[in-house]
Amino acid sequence: MNIAVLSRNAKLYSTRRLIETGEKRGHNMVVLDHTKCDILIERKKPQVFYNGHEIDNIDAIIPRIGASVTFYGTAVVRQFEMKKVFTTTESQALVRSRDKLRSLQILSRAGLHLPKTAFTNFSKDNQNIVAQVGGAPCVIKLLEGTQGVGVVLAETNSAAESVLDAFGGLKARVIVQEFVAEAKGADIRAFVVDGVVVGAMKRQAKEGEFRSNLHRGGSATIVQLSDEEENAALKAAKAMGLSIAGVDMLQSSTGPKIMEVNSSPGLEGIESATGIDIANAIIRFIERNVD
Ligand code: ADP
Ligand code: GLU
Repeated sequence: MNIAVLSRNAKLYSTRRLIETGEKRGHNMVVLDHTKCDILIERKKPQVFYNGHEIDNIDAIIPRIGASVTFYGTAVVRQFEMKKVFTTTESQALVRSRDKLRSLQILSRAGLHLPKTAFTNFSKDNQNIVAQVGGAPCVIKLLEGTQGVGVVLAETNSAAESVLDAFGGLKARVIVQEFVAEAKGADIRAFVVDGVVVGAMKRQAKEGEFRSNLHRGGSATIVQLSDEEENAALKAAKAMGLSIAGVDMLQSSTGPKIMEVNSSPGLEGIESATGIDIANAIIRFIERNVD
């Protein structure tokens, strides 16, 4: 099979692992930088060009589209879909996952538990917004943030209101969320491939920090999920329409609360924490779907 990894950098851990695993399983693997793909549209003849050459022999793509290039990246994924090329992540699901607010709405409709969340169109009544999620302590998140940047824990109502004032003044959109204190600075990342949790890790924030992101100095260890956690992860991925998903949840006193569903989850953190060959699970998912 000819499999393309859509990635801006062939040297990234996740990209390298997918390439080496695909080759080991006998496939022709290629890295295409989606930001350098040209799209040609004419009647019933969708084409993709790369460095001036038409790409027409691909059987499957693995999109690894960064948040900053979602618009063009999804257009390229969609073009491959029009060419009837199998994709491990559908363009629609990718777009959906990049909108934090819309994602929470979808997860809530699917009946999943979430931290109580308020969103407002730069309300003047910050006091009321903070009260709606149960008051301080609460978490305020920039809608556009990733890797824990722009996620603030406000310990008091007045701190929360001033953070909201500050973001509002910058015209930066935020969500306000109930703080799940019982999670004790830890969260769970469940890696879902094709309806199965293939690996899960617990990430613990470093001392004095509530954000458990590895980029913020958190550490990760393998974890055995409860049935409830496993079911929540699978249901969340399904609701988002994602065959490959990194589902982040907080362990609350009333069970798992979903924080986020990531559509390009990294392999490095999860493979090193669990020792599980996640890349292999992804390549085998393609093999089951393309003949
Ligand atoms: P990002 O998408 O930028 O990583 P997250 O929403 O995942 O932002 O938040 C970063 C981290 O902050 C999470 O991994 C978690 O450890 C912590 N966190 C986020 N929201 C909450 C919350 N409502 N209650 C407790 N901890 C939270
Ligand atoms: N960008 C990666 C992700 O959120 C971070 C690495 C990791 O935590 O796996 O999926």
